Amino acid sequence: MHAPRISSKKRFLAALACLLPTLGVAGTASATGMQGHIYMAQCAAEQVTEPRLRALFDAHLNDLSNGAFFPDSGYTAEDHDQGEIPHWEQYVQGYVELIRSRYGDKPLENPDAATHVAFLMGLAAHGITDSTFDSLLYERADQVDPGDMDTFDMAMDIFLVHDHPRYYLPEIAVDTETQSEIFEQKIAHPVTPDAIKKAMSTARSGIFLVAEYLYIGADEYGAKFPWARQSLRDPRTPGGYPFGARVTMGYYREILRRLDGNSSADGVVIGAYPDEAYPLATLDNTRPDGRIVLFFGEGMDRATIDDAVVTVRDDAGTVVPTKASVYRGDKWANVLLVTAQEPWKAATKYTATLHKSIKTLAGVSPTEDIVFPFTTCTPDSPGGDCAAQAGPPPASPCPKLDEAYSMRPEDVPPEEEEPPPPTNVNPVAEQESGCTAAPARRETNAGSLLALAGACVALVARRRGRPS
Ligand SMILES: [Zn+2]
Repeated sequence: MHAPRISSKKRFLAALACLLPTLGVAGTASATGMQGHIYMAQCAAEQVTEPRLRALFDAHLNDLSNGAFFPDSGYTAEDHDQGEIPHWEQYVQGYVELIRSRYGDKPLENPDAATHVAFLMGLAAHGITDSTFDSLLYERADQVDPGDMDTFDMAMDIFLVHDHPRYYLPEIAVDTETQSEIFEQKIAHPVTPDAIKKAMSTARSGIFLVAEYLYIGADEYGAKFPWARQSLRDPRTPGGYPFGARVTMGYYREILRRLDGNSSADGVVIGAYPDEAYPLATLDNTRPDGRIVLFFGEGMDRATIDDAVVTVRDDAGTVVPTKASVYRGDKWANVLLVTAQEPWKAATKYTATLHKSIKTLAGVSPTEDIVFPFTTCTPDSPGGDCAAQAGPPPASPCPKLDEAYSMRPEDVPPEEEEPPPPTNVNPVAEQESGCTAAPARRETNAGSLLALAGACVALVARRRGRPS
């Protein structure tokens, strides 16, 4: 019964597709979409049990969600670094310091700090989930999916909105003066409050455009990225959204520690691949998901990272030759890649040991070496590789979030004037009123096309660089 509407949407989509190249901003995408970042930040928040964080996320979901798309908003500005810088630890650390200097040594006890702490958690979630996603899922999709990766990140949001279905439209809430202060005082890279405000508005329009219009292109993008579409939300996929949310939970914990003024590095590794929940996907040491990846909840001193910082041994105690490298980052590293120089042996128990010589940006080392055991798969036939995932995916780790929008608001019967509230309403869902308060469907005329041109910038300009 929606055929006429879909038809007009498709014409609109075609018009947008024509418009994109004229904007001159097509480039190499290397990140997941903003809707996906909001999803992962919220999915991690749902799983948090620490009481102060629980209270924070229950009360400030919109602030968390604004933080979760803030880094990519900066890519819509002329200054590319307005987007790049907030993705990384120097900005996170600058924000931690600003909050502590403004709100005291225990900022979580000061209600005035809560908005900022939630926003900080959101932007940190964004940065780390770009790294979980890019280092594992994106790079694997680049090998196995036929599509041009330039449109990959937008495709991920389209899949999330269309297939799940899932979308969330935050109401813009950003303290532009404070963010400008961090850029200027902590990074020495001035960005004006106006530039931040404009970028957030453009980015929010981009999220809206996908949620309201572009999602109908899911099958076209699905032909380009069939593996990624199938794997994106599967809790078994290294680098997928549940994986990203799991690592983000550790980041929330470590940022809370930093806000509390505790410099311990004993919990600084917030995620490791492979681990018990995510066995090594392949015996091929050259595949992206054939590497060991460690994620850190604080910037690490690059001078303390070399090939010897991680030692890998097999079950006979023989050292596996490996190379260590930092995955992007800024002045500080927060992702470490360990690449074996030979194929993994089947059905073998390995241990990777991170040496306590590594130091955080605060100059602190873990008190003990940190050991990560993992066992490789047993292929079906000798000389083969690990079997691909089979069967339906296990349950989502964030069921409340997933249940909140099992139906798109416009899919409700037309006789109903307003979409009914989500069933099983809970504190998380109640905070999601931004979604149902989305602008009404617009006429697909030339005026709206122009109005949304800026949103296209938001969609195609999102990309992280690869700093040397
Ligand atoms: Zn990003």
